[in-house]
Amino acid sequence: HQPIGQKDLKQLLTYLQNLDQTGFRAMIQKLHSYDLARLFFQLSNIYQRRLLTLLQPEEIALLMEELDLQEQKEVLAALGQKKAAQVLDHMPNDDAADLLSELELSQSTLLLKEMKTVEADQVRALLHYPEDTAGGLMTNAYVQIFSHYTVEETLRFLREIAPAAETIYYLYVTDVRHRLIGVLSLRDLLIREPHEKIDRIMNERVISVPVDMDQEEVARILSRYDFLALPVVDQNKKLVGIVTVDDIIDVLIEEAREDLEQLSAVQPTDFVDPF
Ligand code: ATP
Ligand code: MG
Repeated sequence: HQPIGQKDLKQLLTYLQNLDQTGFRAMIQKLHSYDLARLFFQLSNIYQRRLLTLLQPEEIALLMEELDLQEQKEVLAALGQKKAAQVLDHMPNDDAADLLSELELSQSTLLLKEMKTVEADQVRALLHYPEDTAGGLMTNAYVQIFSHYTVEETLRFLREIAPAAETIYYLYVTDVRHRLIGVLSLRDLLIREPHEKIDRIMNERVISVPVDMDQEEVARILSRYDFLALPVVDQNKKLVGIVTVDDIIDVLIEEAREDLEQLSAVQPTDFVDPF
């Protein structure tokens, strides 16, 4: 696969100029959304808007994953109210919450009203948590199963819910009161016999973090254990969400940038001649 270049940009522009839907479709189907995002920002405003018109809401949601918050805001602003809400419906709900919290309250309220009820409720729940805590980072699109399930039942269940889950790599086991009692990875599941029960194969020592834990502490714990996600629990040990490694990478980058800024702010005084 060749990296995206000027030729691709020219090609895309031709399709957009001619409103060539077929050519456009054929092209973007072969593009990774990262590459599409890079092309997008090389287009002028007019063609950016035209491209957004030709994309389905779920395709714009994928594009959004490649953009930072400021860029996401720009894209959202370029969309009509209805399509913007559909895009938010298709975004991971933690990302949708982050984006909505950047908007004017009146606008985010309108968009939440326009969104699907289930999605909007999930996003509203996330909006309550401070941005720089586990709660502010987490998504509630995790996989939750019961300990009395068999491996076979779990696989069937996974097939159903996998399209909407943020990650299916870890399955979290809760009791009926939604308290976290176990965890297993997809690999743990796949290597077992179909009839085996979850409570026999799950890990009962689950590492979790409280909703109000600072994001940098969450990042440290996740990298210490090398997990791809960490479960987040409330005061009653109930599972309320998961923080995934991709969100932690963003925290680490932010943290590194802050450190660097601090360093460059401190340096000049270090070299001040005391005499
Ligand atoms: P692979 O490493 O090959 O991708 P794996 O099954 O080893 O597969 P890991 O991500 O390495 O998956 O996870 C290691 C183990 O940690 C798994 O058995 C998983 O169930 C367990 N695990 C995952 N999350 C937690 C957690 N929050 N607390 C305790 N154990 C966990
Ligand atoms: Mg492993």
